Amino acid sequence: MPIYEYKCNACGKNFETLVMGSSTPECPSCDSLDLSRLLSVCGFVSKSSGPSGETQVKSSASSACGSCSSTNCSSCSMG
Ligand SMILES: [Zn+2]
Repeated sequence: MPIYEYKCNACGKNFETLVMGSSTPECPSCDSLDLSRLLSVCGFVSKSSGPSGETQVKSSASSACGSCSSTNCSSCSMG
C-alpha cells in the first residue's frame, strides 16, 4: 500500500499516512484537510553523495531504503 508524506498547511505538522484509493487523508494533529503531499524522501537519494569517496556498490534495488530514514517508503520497494 502506498504511504505518502504530507505536510499540514494548517498547523505545519509533517506526517506519513496510508492512502487507499480516493480516500482523503487528514492531519492527525488538527484534523485539517488542507494538506500538501510531499515527494518521497527515498526518491531523492543519490548514490553520488557518499562520505569521502567511499564506494557503495548496491545496484540491487532490494535494499534501496538503506540510506533512507523511512523504512516503509513505498517507492523504495518498487525498485
Ligand atoms: Zn494540522
